[in-house]
Amino acid sequence: MTATVHVAPISDLIEHETESDEPTCICGPVTMPIELVDGLIAWAHVHVSLDGRERGEGD
Ligand SMILES: [Zn+2]
Repeated sequence: MTATVHVAPISDLIEHETESDEPTCICGPVTMPIELVDGLIAWAHVHVSLDGRERGEGD
């Protein structure tokens, strides 16, 4: 059994599709397996922020 999680920036310039089990978001999420306890694998769709927020947090 697998689970799917989304890792998306909050309040980005675009609206990220985080409801689907598929990486259908327009930002082109990177899908990677993450291992949980007992060898369970979850798929993480890691979304890309488009506003350059890597400069730092805060408003
Ligand atoms: Zn996205």
